Amino acid sequence: MENSPLKYKHALFLNPYVDCNANSTMKLFPPVGLEYVATAAKGLAEKVTLLDLRHEEELSRPDKLMDFIRSGVDIVCVAIGWDRQLKEIYALISLIPAGVRVVVGGYTATEKVEELFRDCPRIDIIVRGEGEETIKEILIGMPLENILGLSYRKNGAVVHNANRPLPGVDAIAFPDRALRHNKYYLMLNGIDVMNLKFDAVLSARGCPHNCKFCTFSLNPLGQKRNYAPRSNQSVVDELEGLEAKVVLFSDDNFFANPGRAEEICDLLIARKIKKRFIAQARLEVARYPRLLEKMVKAGFKVLLIGIESPHDRILAQMNKGFTSATVRQAFSVLKKYPIYYHGYFIYGNIGETEEEMLYISQFAKEIGVDSITLNKLRIEKFSPLKALAENTPGYHVTESGALYSDEFPHSRLKKIGRKLRFSFYTPSRFMKMLGKNIFVVRFFTVREVAQLIIMFPRLIASAINREIQRGRLADSLKRTFVSNT
Ligand code: SF4
Repeated sequence: MENSPLKYKHALFLNPYVDCNANSTMKLFPPVGLEYVATAAKGLAEKVTLLDLRHEEELSRPDKLMDFIRSGVDIVCVAIGWDRQLKEIYALISLIPAGVRVVVGGYTATEKVEELFRDCPRIDIIVRGEGEETIKEILIGMPLENILGLSYRKNGAVVHNANRPLPGVDAIAFPDRALRHNKYYLMLNGIDVMNLKFDAVLSARGCPHNCKFCTFSLNPLGQKRNYAPRSNQSVVDELEGLEAKVVLFSDDNFFANPGRAEEICDLLIARKIKKRFIAQARLEVARYPRLLEKMVKAGFKVLLIGIESPHDRILAQMNKGFTSATVRQAFSVLKKYPIYYHGYFIYGNIGETEEEMLYISQFAKEIGVDSITLNKLRIEKFSPLKALAENTPGYHVTESGALYSDEFPHSRLKKIGRKLRFSFYTPSRFMKMLGKNIFVVRFFTVREVAQLIIMFPRLIASAINREIQRGRLADSLKRTFVSNT
């Protein structure tokens, strides 16, 4: 070992979030951003360990985790992708024994570099933006001043190196699932109903569209990730190697290039890869009937579609690129296919009246979307709507990006959100959702349906509870799957 050319003996990659709500959807998602970075580190430290503390029993206890680190870990890389539990994470990091290098990365770490260095003295280095190349250079011992995309402490000050240009996607190895300590299961409203293994695949980074409210295709540095698809072969190879039966494509829009999506469907069919796919899509997918037919054959069961608003004025303000008539037309086509449609809507937009907000639920029923997620408009740091929000009299943006106005303070928006959810999610809606999944989409096998029926009362109670707590799936996707971008 003494002659080892490797600088580090044992690199620990840590997802530090622990106290997930029992009903949380988050626990479902593997920490893919961290997994990409840990995979890039393979071979550059004598040993690489990946821990997701949400799924660790013993090691989620700080004393046990520190014992583990003392047993030979000499570099700890912590993913901070969420703007929450920060105090707890700082407290955990502060326990890491002296002499162990502490590197932090992820979406929130990149957004809040100064704050993290100020509030957590134990952090040595912050990797900003995409981390796969940066971690390699740290592990091989390159001088810190030469590593792009890095911020680090030097002589009591913090040094920020230049940003790292975004690497090509085919240069990045897909996550090695063998690094995982645990399996991920499909959870419905936070409940593991059917013991169905779940995974997520990022087939492309970035998005070719420019919706003004959306910073998904920007990294936390404001760098735009132009649409960059991986090769079809590499995507299908990754899918073929997965144990999971249910796979989410975490791309911003899996169908951004319909020809490519069709080729991937062809490969899935030809190679008899039988999985149930969930993907994020834009309405334009309705223009491609041949693609839709192949999607059904290839196992696409659920599409998550950003509809955002029933109002043309708001859609134009968002630069969404379609009108409410386009939405109706698209759904009149989509409904012909045995696919479950989940729609995202945003309320509390600039200049939106209460009546307009409340119409969302009615509109969702009219177009025939199966379920919805409602989010209040957020104005992220690099959002193109920021200037409009700041220059519109009576509107305010909080430090955390929440938008409110004198007429619609948080409390009023909260009430509107509840009204919307309760008017959409009626008991008959839950029955329809279940019926469509079982009889039309055939998402579940007969055995799984039996398990589902037994769990149904618990699922409804949890769904109601979750809707009350306002699940924010879109945001969770962004931060979970692209936490390194
Ligand atoms: S909302 Fe969707 S389509 Fe629009 S820019 Fe964001 S990811 Fe792309």
